[in-house]
Order: sequence, then C-alpha cells, then structure tokens
Amino acid sequence: MSVKAVWFRNDLRIDDHPALAAAAEQPNAKVIALCIISKKQWQEHGVGQNAQALYFSALIHLANDLADLGIELSLLEVDWWRDIPEVIEQWVKQNNVEELHFNIELPLDERRRDKAAYEHLKDLLKVSRHRPDTLSDPWRIENQQGSPFKVFTPYSKRVRSLIEHESLDLSAAPKKKNNPIDINKTLQSIEKLSIGSEVSIPDVSQTYLRKQIKQFFETGLNDYAKYRDFPALDATSSLSPALAVGAISVRRLFKEATEYSTEAFKWTTELIWRDFYRYIMWHFPDIAKGKSFRHEVEQHIQWNQDGEQFKRWCAGETGVPIVDAAMRQLNNTGWMHNRLRMVVASFLTKNLWIDWRQGESYFAEKLFDYDFSSNNGGWQWSASVGTDAAPYFRVFSPVSQAEKFDPDAKFIRTWIKELEGASTKAIHGFEGTDLPGYSSPMVDIKFTRKLAIENFKHAVKAAE
Ligand code: FAD
Repeated sequence: MSVKAVWFRNDLRIDDHPALAAAAEQPNAKVIALCIISKKQWQEHGVGQNAQALYFSALIHLANDLADLGIELSLLEVDWWRDIPEVIEQWVKQNNVEELHFNIELPLDERRRDKAAYEHLKDLLKVSRHRPDTLSDPWRIENQQGSPFKVFTPYSKRVRSLIEHESLDLSAAPKKKNNPIDINKTLQSIEKLSIGSEVSIPDVSQTYLRKQIKQFFETGLNDYAKYRDFPALDATSSLSPALAVGAISVRRLFKEATEYSTEAFKWTTELIWRDFYRYIMWHFPDIAKGKSFRHEVEQHIQWNQDGEQFKRWCAGETGVPIVDAAMRQLNNTGWMHNRLRMVVASFLTKNLWIDWRQGESYFAEKLFDYDFSSNNGGWQWSASVGTDAAPYFRVFSPVSQAEKFDPDAKFIRTWIKELEGASTKAIHGFEGTDLPGYSSPMVDIKFTRKLAIENFKHAVKAAE
C-alpha cells in the first residue's frame, strides 16, 4: 500500500486543508501526518509563551481529529529549521513515504525552509505544495500594470471579484477510515514538548469553534459595522487565535458568513485585511527583515531610546486611561481589542516616539493570536511607515478615542481598578484632573502629538 504524508505547520485542522485532501484522495493509500517543533526558531522569531501554548493546544485537537480519520500524527523536534530537510528524510525513509504534501506558507523564513526541504527531498519522493491559507493566492493578484497592489481598497475589490468568478474552492475533510490509531503515543510526545500559559488559553477545538462561529453569526455579524469598535462590547468574533494557528479555514469563514447574511461585507473585509498583509509579505519580503515599507522616510527618523518609558507602556502605567486599560487587558488575557491595538500603537510611536518594532515584539510576546504579517502590518500602519498607512498628520488622540469608543468608561474601569470609583467625566478629563491613586499622564499629549507631526514632516521632506 502506498504511503502518503502530510506535513502540518500553521494549518492545524482537517477541514479545507488542501494538502491533507490531496494526500487522502486515493482511497487505498495510507495517510500519515507529521509536525516538527523548533523552539529555538520560535524564540528567534520572537514567538511568545502564549502563542506557543496555543499551538500545542491546537496540536492536541488536531491529533485527535486525525486519529478519528485513521491518521497518525508524528511529532518531531529540531533545534533549527535548517535541520528539517535531514530530519524529514530520515522520517520518510523509516515510514516508506512515497509522497509528501504541504500547504505553502508565505513568510520569508518559512519560504526558505520549504524550498530547502523541497530541494533536498525532490529526488527521493514526490513533494507536492498546495495553496496557502489565504482567500486568494498572492501571486495571482496584480494591478493593470502587472505590479503588486500597495493599497488595500483596489486589492480587496480584486480579491472579491476573483472569489465571485471562481468561488472559494474548499477542500472537504477526508473520509473516515477504519484504521484504529493509538493516540497516546502522539499525546505523550506533545505533552513532552508542550508549554502552558499563565492565563487561560483560548479553546480552539472544532466543537467550540463551531459554537463560537454560530453565536457570532447569530448575534454579531449583522451589527458588526455598528459595534465592532467598542471594546466594552463583545461585538467581534474573537476568532483570531484560531485563525493564527490555522484551526479554522479563512475560506470556510468567508463562504459561511457570505451565505449566512447579506450584511457580512464589513466582517469579510476584515478577513481580506488578513489576506492583504500576507500578500504584502509575499511581494515585499524585506518587511520580514525588520525594514519598514516606507524605509526612505523612516531612515530620517531618530526614535526615542528611553527604556523606562517603554516599560511603563508595557505595564499599562502611562497615566493615560484608555492606553493603560488596553495594555492591562493584553497582559492579563493575551488578547487586545483591535481599536485599542491601534490606540496603544499610536501612543507608543507618536506620543512616546518609540520605535514601532519594540511594540511589535511586545505584542508577539503576549498575544495568543500573534501572527507575523497581521502584527507587522498593524504596527507599520499605526506608525505611518507601512503600505496604505495612517497618514502621519492624522494622529489618534487617546482622549477622543476613549470618549468615542468607551463613552461611559466601562472598559477603562474593568481594567484599571484604581479608577473603579472615579466618574466618567473625571476619567475622560484625566489631563486636567487629579485622579486619586492613578498617575498623571507621563507625557503632554497635545505637545507630543505636534512634535510627532513636525518630525514626520521633516522626514517625509528629506525623503523626497
Ligand atoms: P474580527 O473583528 O472578528 O475580525 C475577523 C478576523 O479578521 C480576525 O480574527 C483577523 O483574522 C482578521 N482581522 C481583523 N482585523 C484585522 C486587521 N486589522 N488586520 C489583519 N487582520 C484582521 N491580528 C492577528 O491576528 N494577529 C496579530 O498579531 C495582530 N496584531 C495586530 C497589531 C496591531 C498594532 C494592530 C492594529 C492590529 C493587529 N491585528 C492582529 C489585527 C486585529 O487587531 C485582530 O485580528 C483582531 O483584533 C482580532 O479580533 P477578532 O478575531 O475578534 O476580529
């Protein structure tokens, strides 16, 4: 019987998994699965404890789901990704594998890893690469001049028109086979490598995710545009951790949301934002080397190196209530609301004038949903150095953001215990009010905003 293998990476699911579907196509072939852990590589990429803990949790669910299909998952460990080709070679030889299947991954180091594995193995067995975890393949989308899009809206239109014309072409999960699997061996090897988190890990089991999606569609999807910016409301899907480890397919979500409601446009646009940052990473791989998209401007910027100020931002002790509440939410839950990610990023880069890369790394350290491209894209956007970035002269005011999106200061009070008894007026008027038990703002917001705009103006001029 021929043996086909699937190499799982950041796509820990059985539904709409092109590599798995292709390997399982022939009913009489035996399918086995592989996952390779490299903690040193994670460390080098700055992947924090929470994201790692989530990965292992998703891996346990995957091992069980595969076992139900009669597929055994093997877990291997390497120091570095560069060791992978040799390790796979041994494994495929031991298991008489004739075909190896995996889904393409778009970040730069992942591409290098996969190319090395392909080159090393291609003469030994058939190696098949399948579509990436995106709504559309990035190499298929270009503007009329044949160049990559750099702006979101035309990109988004192009993605939607491709989806309309070609549909999303989902792959079904393979059929169950009567092939009993001893899951304990796999679970023990996961347990041996696994690390936990100090905070509660989001549930990414398929049973939970199906419930979560149903509930969001029934209660949140139609009103998403209206309420999504209010952090005190539970008005977004909270599916980002599941999407980050690939426990759910973005194509499945897009399709189901569109079929469920005619009001799904705004939410599916967010799914396209996720695709857009992956697309940018594919076409402009320099951003994975620490370079901003608008390097010509950023090279004229001297960021503030004050480590103490950065520490206060991380700890949620800046004296700016909405910023501190958001950072405390991040530190205590491993998650932060999207509106607040923009607010704290703007405060760090514009008011404190601290390098966006420091914020990017801190998010990677803390977020369960840490995802290189969305995080990098979000940070560069907020620092006005990315593609389609926030114009530098439009700096978020943490005062008006709080008044607009947390009007009764409910979110702020949830996370800043010192302000529990303070009036909403006093909280929003924090610049001119003495709030007992709470520090005054660490910088003058209006002054630092003006300074940031001036500095940017000079940098943009110098780049011309
Ligand atoms: P929903 O509002 O329900 O949206 C559905 C899905 O669309 C999300 O799960 C996510 O996959 C995608 N999405 C939504 N907004 C964005 C966006 N602005 N950019 C890209 N994809 C989006 N998202 C991550 O998944 N990982 C990160 O590491 C990350 N870092 C960020 C850093 C900054 C500075 C900023 C401004 C944004 C970042 N985001 C990141 C995007 C966004 O904040 C989160 O995806 C969102 O808050 C997740 O909540 P949700 O699942 O309820 O989203």
